[in-house]
Amino acid sequence: MIFLDAAATTPVRREVVDAMWPHLTGAFGNPSSHHTLGEAAAAALAGARAAVAGVLGCRQGEVVFTSGGTEADNLAVKGIALARQAANPGLNRVVISAVEHPAVEESARYLERFHGFVVDVVPVDATGTVTPDALAGMLRPETALVSIMYANNEVGTIQPIAALAELAHRHGIPFHTDAVQAAGWQPLDTKALGVDAMSISGHKLGAPKGCGMLFVRSRTRLEPVIHGGGQERGRRSGTENVAGAVGLATALTLATDRQPEQQARVAALRDRFIGAVAAAVPDAVLTGHPTERLPSVASFCFPGTSGESLLLELERQGVVCSSGSACAAGSDAPSPVLTALGISAEVAQTAVRFSFDASVTGEDLDKAADAVRSAVARVRSLGAGQAH
Ligand code: PLP
Repeated sequence: MIFLDAAATTPVRREVVDAMWPHLTGAFGNPSSHHTLGEAAAAALAGARAAVAGVLGCRQGEVVFTSGGTEADNLAVKGIALARQAANPGLNRVVISAVEHPAVEESARYLERFHGFVVDVVPVDATGTVTPDALAGMLRPETALVSIMYANNEVGTIQPIAALAELAHRHGIPFHTDAVQAAGWQPLDTKALGVDAMSISGHKLGAPKGCGMLFVRSRTRLEPVIHGGGQERGRRSGTENVAGAVGLATALTLATDRQPEQQARVAALRDRFIGAVAAAVPDAVLTGHPTERLPSVASFCFPGTSGESLLLELERQGVVCSSGSACAAGSDAPSPVLTALGISAEVAQTAVRFSFDASVTGEDLDKAADAVRSAVARVRSLGAGQAH
């Protein structure tokens, strides 16, 4: 099997399992316990926090461990908007982009449904980019928060985060970014980016599912979403997932150490794959930004086919990928991300996303491009939708 669905999830790396193992077995203490086992667990958690803070160029106290990217996004969007509104009831708007992951979009919709907020959706251009001009047109005195993702999970477009954050700050508005797909590929220095909050998920990086973190800059007001025993300095209650935090820290450190080399290598392989697909299917349309894109994502529309039928054909040939984001799987509606880029609903139904981790090889991608050629030909010859 050639696994080209790394934007959905990645296998846990061996080094990560090894780092986690002691904390799942002998050193299994609860970090809140006042005995040696508990103290050892607290020390492991502190070590993981220090490692993550090192990668993010932030203070250890600015790292909040969560159960993953979805929880980090919920905490950022709801937590910052509600805390700001509590301090200033006039703040009742949030700005998100038209291509956010549902974890951000639905958190904003929750604020709309239950807390009287207005959600302002900043459009993207045909490459999937939020331009500073487009954002400027959305900012108001009542805006409590801006949340714009670092890199898109469906088309891979990278946003100009530093410029967007700076713009929000000029209006006195805090800025959150969902960096779940960018982590491991893009610089994560929170000072250089200028963000106030940033979400990361472990399972996109070679750590297990169910661990993640939110960076929250000191002095950013944050109302917790999960209440309880006051762990994570009261920002996220619940007994800490010590092994998960260690796994996330290990995976993030490994990905960061190798980032420049991996980024260049995988970007070159991605470009070769894009060229091979274009040669195999001349009317294939690459979606997303032509250059400001993740090395790890190549998404296409194949007019006159059906994305779901292509997936089945590709899997039959041993290539596993995705017809949209896994989160939207099971839904027949065209991807809102693709329609936000101005792609018609009909063409959006023909989308296939290929996404890679650092273990991808040129040989795999050459085979995948061949599989794309025959899958598209077969689906077209059967008539879109009949290849099931
Ligand atoms: N944000 C983005 C951009 C994602 O791609 C995903 C996962 O697909 C998430 C958030 C959710 O992260 P998790 O699966 O850790 O909840």
